Amino acid sequence: MNKRLHSVNDLEPSQAVLNSFLEVNSGLAFYIERYADILTNNKTELEYSIRSFLKSVIPIYDSLKHYADEDRAESLLRAQVQHLDNMLRQFGQANYFTQLKHIGQTHYQLRIDPAWVIGAYRVYQKHFLNIIYHSNQITDQDRPLLCDAVNRLLFRDMAIILEGYWQTGENTHQQQQQKLTELQSQLCNLLSNLPQTIWSYDVVDQKYIYLSPSKNDSLHAGEEIPIPFLSWTDKNEHQNVLNCWQQSLKGETTSIESATETPDGQRRWYKRTFYPFVDKHGQVIRIDGVMEDVTESRQTHNRLLFMASTDTLTGLANRNLWYDRAKQALAIAAREQGREVALMLLDLNHFKYINDTLGHQVGDVVLRMVAQRFKEVLRTSDTVARFGGDEFAILLPSIDDGVTIATRVAEKIQDCFQQPLQYGSHELFLGAAIGITLYPQDGQDLSVLMRRADIAMYTSKRKRLPFQFHKPGLEEEYDRKLRLSSQIKNAIQENEFQLLYQPRVRLDGQGIAGVEALIRWQHPQLGILHPSQFIPQAEQSGLMAELSEWILTTALAQANNWQTQGLHMPVSINVSARSFQSVNFVDSIKQALGNHHTNGHQLELEITENTLMNHSDRCLSILKQLVEMGVSISIDDFGTGFSSLSHLKQFPLELLKIDNSFINNMQHCTRDTAVVSSVIELGHKLGFQVAAEGVEQLDTFNSLKQMGCDQAQGYHIGRPMAGNELVQWATQQRAVGNA
Ligand code: C2E
Ligand code: CA
Ligand code: CA
Repeated sequence: MNKRLHSVNDLEPSQAVLNSFLEVNSGLAFYIERYADILTNNKTELEYSIRSFLKSVIPIYDSLKHYADEDRAESLLRAQVQHLDNMLRQFGQANYFTQLKHIGQTHYQLRIDPAWVIGAYRVYQKHFLNIIYHSNQITDQDRPLLCDAVNRLLFRDMAIILEGYWQTGENTHQQQQQKLTELQSQLCNLLSNLPQTIWSYDVVDQKYIYLSPSKNDSLHAGEEIPIPFLSWTDKNEHQNVLNCWQQSLKGETTSIESATETPDGQRRWYKRTFYPFVDKHGQVIRIDGVMEDVTESRQTHNRLLFMASTDTLTGLANRNLWYDRAKQALAIAAREQGREVALMLLDLNHFKYINDTLGHQVGDVVLRMVAQRFKEVLRTSDTVARFGGDEFAILLPSIDDGVTIATRVAEKIQDCFQQPLQYGSHELFLGAAIGITLYPQDGQDLSVLMRRADIAMYTSKRKRLPFQFHKPGLEEEYDRKLRLSSQIKNAIQENEFQLLYQPRVRLDGQGIAGVEALIRWQHPQLGILHPSQFIPQAEQSGLMAELSEWILTTALAQANNWQTQGLHMPVSINVSARSFQSVNFVDSIKQALGNHHTNGHQLELEITENTLMNHSDRCLSILKQLVEMGVSISIDDFGTGFSSLSHLKQFPLELLKIDNSFINNMQHCTRDTAVVSSVIELGHKLGFQVAAEGVEQLDTFNSLKQMGCDQAQGYHIGRPMAGNELVQWATQQRAVGNA
């Protein structure tokens, strides 16, 4: 066997088969070897033929455009010529097969059609046949045999290149197929792990183009067209989902959330979104859909909604929710003839006191108990809310007779406070002020109705009424008071306040017992204002401390002034409950006395019974400190409060001033006379001095004298007057022998 022919065992099966079919054997080798030099002799002509071929077939030439450089193209040509050289000289070597296959692979990668390969071999064949027929170095006898041998070699050569071409195609295809399979399984894993189901529905052929595998795969979503899992959806919501689908068929992206019950009995929420795909004619031909489980986000949403609409302390509605419902109620009532809406604002009485004395924790418990009581007496259609602190609101929507129904509800609310709230060993008594407005008669607008309800509530509180409906005039009164509050501070600086002094005389003819300082405001626009017209506002706006200081200073300065004029009498000052209970009350008195170098005996303080009743222990200690400083204490308006004489006994008091309402009536009412007389008697027994206030007539004056009353004050004796007028008055009194 020729050394150039490989043993069959070294070859790939296909090459061995080729060798055997084409009879590439020692016979062939003999002729090829004999004429190899002659066949490869005329290289220039071969090059010429190949170049012509390449240029004639544009696709090949194009695919070689990366050889744009002329030299590179020429080197390719030389490679081709070399290749034929190798074919004739190395046709038996194993690496020759490998080279050929590689050429096939390259052709495949460069996308050179097999037809052009075949075309090139026809060029080679022509070239060799031409040599074989015309060369005189080849014997006539050998010509057909050599021709056959060259043909068979060319055949084999071409076949191996095409085999390489085909195998590369096959491999590439297999690799792509594998990649595709991998991708598919990755996608499948991904989709079946996601909580979404994705699908694409062919609207024209009415079938799924795609339906993603999902966790719910076993549940045969594909059997339900055009919306997977529709049968899970709550029956009441089917129509909504279908409507949404219909809308998307018109070209609009739509989505809908609906409650579902999964076959394993879980209630969940699913959101479906439909994305229509429109073709170039504007027709919706496909709908792509996503369905996802939104139960968690829905629960969070509901929780947030609950938090945003609920008062966490009491579980009642909060301000937001109450306002929403109120707006809704007004809108509904506006549409329905004859329907009214009642808005009620509530503020607890004494709650601050509970909070301050028993602590916030108790305060919270109390608020919860109150909320519970409210809930029990109201209907579910009503909304009760806590706005914050001890402020509540009640909404009665759609009622037919607002006044009657709101009155009944207000009474029920007040009944909630009949029984004390039990907290540990404490029995807590509370109450509420209630302001009520009705739609439509009290206003069309929610903000107007709320403002009026607030003012009505404020009025209920101030006048200690169980409830107050809005009525004409309330608002103006409130505004006036509000304006006054804002003017008080300025008024102190502008010196618009004035103290008048009213004398109090001894009924045994021993002269003036003292003078009471009574405040007036010379308001630049409103004229002279009496204390009842501005003291409550001063207290509410926190300006009372400043005003009290001014009163104290002014009164003590006046007392000093009188002293220098020879008038020795104590000046008494009215002390409001709030000032009396303020922490630095005693200090402020001490400081004022010091500032004026005034003896404590020149000052009397008038406080009411109720002031003493609220915090008895604390009051007692304050009073003791004052008495030590020489200040004497009178009980003002005695008889109007809730104290008993025996209770007052514990306090170091000097004087009881019987309220003028008893004194005024004495001449006409024997009952009042009896009260006055017994107060005088009892007061004496307990060691108090007794004074009568509001003595307007001589008869009364005389009766009191007869009854043994110690002192009297009133218009009959002297009206409240300016400090210098009082000097004249006292002089006159001395002149007529009254003092
Ligand atoms: P009050 O302490 O009972 O003062 C007596 C009130 O009775 C005064 O009214 C006085 O003008 C009035 N009055 C005096 N004699 C008669 C009389 O014969 N007949 C009638 N009908 N009334 C008489 P005013 O000045 O309007 O004071 C009202 C209330 O305002 C006072 O009642 C007192 O509680 C409070 N008040 C007055 N001045 C001050 C003050 O400087 N500070 C504080 N905190 N309250 C004051
Ligand atoms: Ca008084
Ligand atoms: Ca009084």
